Amino acid sequence: MSFDTLGLSAGLLRAIGDQGYTEPTPVQRKAIPVILAGKDVLAGAQTGTGKTAGFTLPLLQRLSASPAGKGRRRVRALVLTPTRELAAQVGASVDTYGRHMPLQSTVIFGGVKINPQIARLRRGVDILVATPGRLLDHASQKTVDLSQIEILVLDEADRMLDMGFLPDIRRILALLPANGVRQNLLFSATFSNEIKQLADRLLNRPELIEVPRCNTTAERIVQVVHPVDKHRKREMLSHMIGAGNWRQVLVFTRTKHGANRLAEQLEQDGLSAAAIHGNKSQAARTSALAAFKGGKVRVLVATDIAARGLDIDQLPHVVNYELPNVPEDYVHRIGRTGRAGKEGAAVSLVCVDEHRLLRDIERLLKREIPRVVLQGYAPDPAIKAEPIQNGRNGTGHTRPRKQTGGRNRGGTAAKASPGARRKSAVNGSGEKRTASKPVHKHVRRKAGDSRKQPQRRSRSGQGRERAVSPGG
Ligand code: AMP
Repeated sequence: MSFDTLGLSAGLLRAIGDQGYTEPTPVQRKAIPVILAGKDVLAGAQTGTGKTAGFTLPLLQRLSASPAGKGRRRVRALVLTPTRELAAQVGASVDTYGRHMPLQSTVIFGGVKINPQIARLRRGVDILVATPGRLLDHASQKTVDLSQIEILVLDEADRMLDMGFLPDIRRILALLPANGVRQNLLFSATFSNEIKQLADRLLNRPELIEVPRCNTTAERIVQVVHPVDKHRKREMLSHMIGAGNWRQVLVFTRTKHGANRLAEQLEQDGLSAAAIHGNKSQAARTSALAAFKGGKVRVLVATDIAARGLDIDQLPHVVNYELPNVPEDYVHRIGRTGRAGKEGAAVSLVCVDEHRLLRDIERLLKREIPRVVLQGYAPDPAIKAEPIQNGRNGTGHTRPRKQTGGRNRGGTAAKASPGARRKSAVNGSGEKRTASKPVHKHVRRKAGDSRKQPQRRSRSGQGRERAVSPGG
């Protein structure tokens, strides 16, 4: 099947041709005609399936078919993403696919100066790609007007909820025109009850599009577990990269400190490596990613949140140096390989401490991941499991519960449960932590004054309020 049959305009077909795409991916085949018909969509599509083009192409077509009135362009389509990287990536896709269309777009996210964004918004845009936090900053400063939005896209909605953006999303929805006149598209890799509730509230008789099945990993990704002792993981990783002559590998650690340390150690082993995580400035993250994409850096070591939204073509290897605390993150991580029909390998180095995490992942996948003991790296059976450390001053691991609070601008975040023994929280730089103490109170803030608040940095990640949003 070719793109010609989907009802896309000549300008879009030309842009698709420029990209060298010959046929639509399954999610594109299903989503494009439905979105072109103006319907709401609830799509279960993981990253790597071509979902961005799946919503961007028909969005561009619909906007260009009903040109805006005279005067300054107004924002007519809003795409919300959980992270800065994903926002940048989606923004680049809008530019790419819209290059022959008479539409203007921009991307806004935190961690960078707001004034150039204000200037760009002032000049007028049709399509705005944004992370929730910075968008609310603009809204409170009245530098963006969301009252004319015709199409709303929530991209990676599950991750937005995981990261505590639900209160922000609610505030943004309150700034949009009434639901009846708006087309809403919700994309999510997984469907929790929270996602279903959000979808019920937001979507108007949506078409359900599912490719591939949620909570499953793409079949084209070859998965393997290598049992290994914790203290030998680094040596094993260097060995695998060298022996396999891997040119480009994305490696996941659980913590920012762990990512830094591993990148340094790999450098000592003679492998060019860089770390990318929420404590790094946006400029450092962007340059590490560019170096990796450009082949200057062979190993990119990332934490879950920092890696979200990275689009790296044909990434052949993803390594779970440490298994994630939350099983859904495994699905997101390995979605970085085997992209858009390409084969990929997802390798997990699993020590005795992580057996429970592995069981949780396999329960989610509803399948066992094959174990292969590498010669010379058989785990020492005398080593007993220890609690997992989640950070430099890490607490013993228990699987964190999902956090439900977000940037607590209006003090309306979900109620903290003081009795909770451990909470998953997101600290000031947007990384998940487990907090070992009860959460006692929120910081109340007026909408719009978050930028001036001293308590942007939550105390050791224990507060539910987050200082700088990951998407920011
Ligand atoms: P996404 O799931 O939107 O992050 O897209 C994953 C990757 O697939 C991106 O690198 C796109 O450039 C690529 N892609 C999207 N659509 C197609 C297509 N129809 N054929 C080949 N590659 C595609």
